[in-house]
Amino acid sequence: MQSLKLKKLIRKNILEIKPYQAGKPIEELRREIGTQQIVKLASNENALPPSAKVISAIKNSLKKLNRYPDGSCYYLKKKLAKKLKFNPANLIVGNGSDEIIVLALRAFLKPGEEVVIADPTFLIYKIAARIEGAKIRYVPLKGLRYDLEAMAAAVNRKTKIVFIANPDNPTGTYLTRREIGRFLSSISPRTITFFDEAYFEFAKDYPGFPDTFKLTGKYNIITTRTFSKIHSLAGLRIGYGVARKEIIGYLDRVREPFNVNSLAQVAALAALDDQQHVKRTLEIVKKGKDYLYKEIDKLELEYTPSATNFILINLNRTAQPVTEGLLSEGLIVRNMNAWGLKNFIRVTVGTMEQNRKFIGALKTHLKRR
Ligand code: PMP
Repeated sequence: MQSLKLKKLIRKNILEIKPYQAGKPIEELRREIGTQQIVKLASNENALPPSAKVISAIKNSLKKLNRYPDGSCYYLKKKLAKKLKFNPANLIVGNGSDEIIVLALRAFLKPGEEVVIADPTFLIYKIAARIEGAKIRYVPLKGLRYDLEAMAAAVNRKTKIVFIANPDNPTGTYLTRREIGRFLSSISPRTITFFDEAYFEFAKDYPGFPDTFKLTGKYNIITTRTFSKIHSLAGLRIGYGVARKEIIGYLDRVREPFNVNSLAQVAALAALDDQQHVKRTLEIVKKGKDYLYKEIDKLELEYTPSATNFILINLNRTAQPVTEGLLSEGLIVRNMNAWGLKNFIRVTVGTMEQNRKFIGALKTHLKRR
């Protein structure tokens, strides 16, 4: 064994990173507790599998896996551009929308520059910013919502990117058109605002939800959306970003040549044609949220009304023993400790059967204190 301490070789900013803890995979829990009946409501995935049309498109392209994917995502960008009324040059496709967060930092952040991030929010902003060595200014949430005024106040001459998850994860709250408008008009063009709209489709009909695409020509903004949630394609990793052509050009310079695999591309193309699946998903989530809200009320717990497919619940006690109890019954939900919310859990809306199972088990384990 060579004796040099690896700690001495590693970049200092990497030492400070806590690896992202994903929701426990179903197979891992099955190995641990050996039950067949596992329900995962921990990663805001769609409860429905991809539609038959999408699965058939994937099957039809399996024989071409000896070839590299289309590095430009030509057909997908063309179709998305038509749907969203943009030019393909305004689009970038990523290995999940996560990748576009990484690309934005890689392309734009100069040494010594800063980013502004809400606290808590989606954890990838912080991790990706640390990898790039950014100085991070954290702005606490106010009443479990982004405090945009305080975020604007945290922006200075060195701020390169402000990250805004709209709607936010883990709270499920959203910012309105007016709030976003006021924020953008106060921000200098030196700073890029990154709107992460991974849950857009669930939120778009809520009162005042902004149309950030309309702002694309006017400001230095990047907006991302994903096929992971509404289209049930989390396992294939595919998302996209919209921005001014020049911004997209810079992001394109720093992405890997074949960042989006070919199955993801054909699946996304087929998913765009499947409005039935979108409709069914929205129905399941709406019905599920109504049911869960009612049951959480009955348990006299607090929840944050959510514009997404998940709900943040305050258990008014340390969540860990409860989430462990749920795990022992094959139910995976998210304990919010890593976000600094130790009394909270985040539960993804599942099928009605899954939602009922969750509520039943929650009742049992709240009693068991
Ligand atoms: N942004 C937010 C706010 C999310 O919650 C998620 C998924 N957990 C993502 C981005 C990542 O989505 P994708 O699967 O497209 O990488």
